[in-house]
Amino acid sequence: MRNQLEVHRRDGQPDTVVSIAPGTNCGGKALFVVGGPCAVEDQEQMTSVGSALRSAGVCALRGGVYKPRSSPYSFQGLGCEGLAVLRRTRLESGLPVVTEVMSSLQIEEAASSCDVFQVGSRNMQNFELLKVLAGAGKPVLLKRGLSATVEELLLAAEYLLAGGNRNVILCERGIRSFDTATRNVLDLGAVVLLKQLTHLPVIVDPSHAAGKRELVASLSRAAIAAGADGLIIECHPRPEQSVSDARQAISLGEMRRLMASLGPVAAAVGREVGSVSGSKRLLLHPSA
Ligand code: PEP
Ligand code: MN
Repeated sequence: MRNQLEVHRRDGQPDTVVSIAPGTNCGGKALFVVGGPCAVEDQEQMTSVGSALRSAGVCALRGGVYKPRSSPYSFQGLGCEGLAVLRRTRLESGLPVVTEVMSSLQIEEAASSCDVFQVGSRNMQNFELLKVLAGAGKPVLLKRGLSATVEELLLAAEYLLAGGNRNVILCERGIRSFDTATRNVLDLGAVVLLKQLTHLPVIVDPSHAAGKRELVASLSRAAIAAGADGLIIECHPRPEQSVSDARQAISLGEMRRLMASLGPVAAAVGREVGSVSGSKRLLLHPSA
């Protein structure tokens, strides 16, 4: 096996900046903050989320339409119907969209509804999916597997780079441990280490790490202080009624307050919270 991987930072190599959409990057000075529900439920939900998050200065929307649920009897996502909701929300809000694909069969149908493909924890080592996403022409947000080492995460990312896709964002989302007081254990040490080992941007998902909404804001600020390039956070117009991951969803008001609280932390580590560049965002995807 090669010692030096494409994902590794060579001496003096600057951070990779992943272009998400006109005016929106991940890995530059401005933090890349993604917000939205665990699952797309209906248009009314996503329209509320889109307008609230846009005015809060959030950079991109999230929402799953193919949901990797532990039980086959749980809500599996709206599929194609959810993709139509994402397309409309993207146009209405002007914000780029991140959504998860679980199989290479879903890539083509999801492509016109999103700007970033998310690979979830359970698929971090789905190497066939990674190989197809390497040629799919969009940035990939790659989440760390539930029990994956930092080296395994980097090797999974290497599949994307080796296949020709350098637009990769790594995401620490908590790992399994003996302590179940939180849903997973947020590994901020891995964030600091990854920022040294790789030139790729690293973001943090405090929602799936904590599993409890009351921990999300503090963990978000801690992640930015540790050097994360951004955050992906679950929020919902009526958090308790979320069809999935209700316990960790924060409200849209909490999301706005969280965004406002990130500014001083970002400034302390030489970063900034991106502001909405209205006209650019509105011009996004004019033909979609
Ligand atoms: C999600 O983002 O909703 C999700 C399922 O995340 P993870 O793959 O980190 O569990
Ligand atoms: Mn979720």
